[in-house]
Amino acid sequence: MLRDSFGRVASDLRVSLTDKCNLRCAYCMPPEGLDWLPSAQLLTADEIVRLVRVAVELLGVTEIRYTGGEPLLRRELTDIVARTTALRPRPQVTLTTNAIGLERLARPLAEAGLDRVNVSLDTLDRETFSKLSHRDRLPDVLAGLAAAHEAGLRPVKVNTVLMRGLNDHEAVPLLRFCLERGYEARFIEQMPLDAQHGWSRENMITADEILGLLSESFDLAPDEQEERGSAPAERFVVDGGPARVGVIASVTRPFCGACDRVRLTADGQVRNCLFATEESDLKAAMRAGASDEELAERWRAAVARKRAGHGIDDPSFLQPSRPMSAIGG
Ligand code: SAM
Repeated sequence: MLRDSFGRVASDLRVSLTDKCNLRCAYCMPPEGLDWLPSAQLLTADEIVRLVRVAVELLGVTEIRYTGGEPLLRRELTDIVARTTALRPRPQVTLTTNAIGLERLARPLAEAGLDRVNVSLDTLDRETFSKLSHRDRLPDVLAGLAAAHEAGLRPVKVNTVLMRGLNDHEAVPLLRFCLERGYEARFIEQMPLDAQHGWSRENMITADEILGLLSESFDLAPDEQEERGSAPAERFVVDGGPARVGVIASVTRPFCGACDRVRLTADGQVRNCLFATEESDLKAAMRAGASDEELAERWRAAVARKRAGHGIDDPSFLQPSRPMSAIGG
């Protein structure tokens, strides 16, 4: 097992398949993009599947989430998913994506065994989409969302980051859009993980504000039916149910005490927290000939060092040197 010194067990592995993305969302990446990792530094598909197998077979990981960057940009994605769902014990396999290209890939991914998807969608307005992400791709995202639902990758969860003065007036329409289509909306507090270091607490839309905005149009009641466990989202029943909405208050209501996540970057570094400043290099060990058990041992040691919390509120807080796109959100 991947147990840390506070007794938490990491069973949910987020794997970044690439640091590249085809959008430039304001809270993540500058309009001109970033220096991408050279391809020789990226894990190959075989290396990814080997590390995921070590995690599942030797370390008790039960959920694999493929992310990025934009994971749909990784050509071998369907093959990686199929090889992951063939592992035993069979992990749950999910994908976080901006849905550009999902219209074509949803069915092959479902056939490869993918269980469900989280899709990022911050606005329903085409102009605002172009302004926020520097690309005119809203129709592709909406088509991808519909295709995922149609292909049975359910529940489709929709992740939204609200930003003051940009899309905070869209909380209600976005939730309504999700309710009408059977998607589950989740609003995420913006975190200090952008490459431009433009985050400020004053500008962040807090969970309290999000709930205030939504409560003007919907009746929200804490979800008492389902235990929250290690889930990042606090869920609320909308208008008596059965629909739910989630709020991920990473900054103002941190949930580090119940965290069960560990991350693997596209260049093979284990990170025990989104905000970790240290990484453990599994790629170098693997390429130097480490056995599965040796890789597992390094992984255990990396998780054992996990800190109690992300420390955003600590005066000594340092934003990690890698932005969200290079860590894997
Ligand atoms: N490209 C994929 C996508 O758009 O979902 C996967 C990677 S993206 C980094 C994963 C999630 O992280 C998205 O839902 C995105 O909105 C979120 N995200 C990125 N930067 C963030 C930030 N600074 N604060 C909060 N969420 C962020």
